[in-house]
Amino acid sequence: MSRKLSATATDFIDDAHLTALLERPRPDSRRVRDLVAKSLDKQALAVEETADLLLADDPELVEEIFAAARTLKETVYGNRIVLFAPLYIGSECINDCAYCGFRRSNPDAVRRTLDLDEIRRQVTALEEKGQKRLILVFGEHPKYNAEFIAESVRTVYGVKVGHGEIRRVNINAAPLDKAGYEIVKEAGIGTYQVFQETYHHPTYAQVHPRLTAKGDYLWRLDALSRAMEAGLDDVGIGALFGLYDWRFEVLGLVRHALFLQELYGVGPHTISFPRLRPASGVQLDEKWQVADRDFLRLIAILRLSVPYTGMILTAREDAALRRQALSFGVSQIDAGTRIELGGYTEAGDTQCMEREQFTIGDVRSLDEVMRELVVDGHVPSFCTACYRLGRTGEHFMEFAIPGFIKRFCTPNALTTLLEYLVDYGSEETRAAGERIIAEELAKLPEDALKRELVSRLDRIRTTEDRDLYF
Ligand code: SAM
Ligand code: SF4
Repeated sequence: MSRKLSATATDFIDDAHLTALLERPRPDSRRVRDLVAKSLDKQALAVEETADLLLADDPELVEEIFAAARTLKETVYGNRIVLFAPLYIGSECINDCAYCGFRRSNPDAVRRTLDLDEIRRQVTALEEKGQKRLILVFGEHPKYNAEFIAESVRTVYGVKVGHGEIRRVNINAAPLDKAGYEIVKEAGIGTYQVFQETYHHPTYAQVHPRLTAKGDYLWRLDALSRAMEAGLDDVGIGALFGLYDWRFEVLGLVRHALFLQELYGVGPHTISFPRLRPASGVQLDEKWQVADRDFLRLIAILRLSVPYTGMILTAREDAALRRQALSFGVSQIDAGTRIELGGYTEAGDTQCMEREQFTIGDVRSLDEVMRELVVDGHVPSFCTACYRLGRTGEHFMEFAIPGFIKRFCTPNALTTLLEYLVDYGSEETRAAGERIIAEELAKLPEDALKRELVSRLDRIRTTEDRDLYF
């Protein structure tokens, strides 16, 4: 792999500027309300404006920010939640990231790379539970090059068990060069995620030793620009919260999103905000640990600042916090998650730290999560229609095109939910799921689209027809 940067490579993170923005006086309540109104009017916020929301820590204003994030979520996106599962392919790693169980200096880590048959067995187990969307996760290692990633993706798509199939494969792996992104795009990937981990240069240098592959800040910051140059415009950004001041990282994420938007005309498809978890042999300063309330604040502020982007909340967080965070604009969660290599067939009920990158907080089964979602009034969705029909940037379309959600997202959420209930759901989950389907149908106008949807739902209940997307 060459280390050639993109044509536009530039270090667009100015630490001093972002820090200075956070050292200004608190904004008054009028300013905060104006910003909230701007976001509710579906306009993205500038970095300076985001900083003002971050500075607003008066409890009353924080509540207003929470309420606004809830309103934005409800009025723009509705009650759908997309579900996926991670599949760890390999834990070999040449890097030495201070926070990660896979880092090369950790002698206790069990190193393993799934071969193609092992991948097929994991995917079979995932399909038998009802999963339709996966993210493949890799350490950074010469073995895990673009061809290897592409081969893993093709292998996953090739596994079909009964009504089971994986309809979208996303990737979280080390940055590639432009040619590498072309190869993985060709294999039919969905989103390619690269998290900057921390946007703060000194902290980045502290946790990523300089002589490791990941030690090069700009190579990583430029990663998704190279993807864009390769024609892979479905990319995900993220920061690992707990390494540095969470407010600085939010500004970094917003700056990154705006940079991609301005340069390539398309912002990130998703933003991830993993919070640091205990990991094998990892002892990190707790100074920057993010408290639950601040974590919820950062989710709400990201929702308001980058209102057109999907937001991912993983099983690193426990069930109670995930439940709370859903109302602030999270659009995707994983469920039924195991992150040990081979964990979907081999692991027992307890987590084994040496076999995984970090420990997770929500180990419930997919069915349990599905049940809680529908009982709480969410509509779990396994929809993959836009990506398969070439409607890329679907989250942006949901946001920007009036009527898009009603016409595509809701019908596809309901058909994919019903597929799950009929093919994999427990009795209790099916009953609760059918109730929410009926409630959602009742909200739709009596038109041709609804008649077609009702007819497709009946086909799913009474025939073997599946994958009936709009
Ligand atoms: N190895 C590739 C890389 O570093 O880009 C792929 C990603 S890594 C397997 C997935 C992500 O897990 C990292 O980007 C990091 O944000 C997150 N992660 C690492 N250690 C973690 C920990 N202790 N707690 C929570 N998340 C962690
Ligand atoms: Fe390797 Fe990624 Fe873990 Fe760093 S975060 S040690 S690159 S797996």
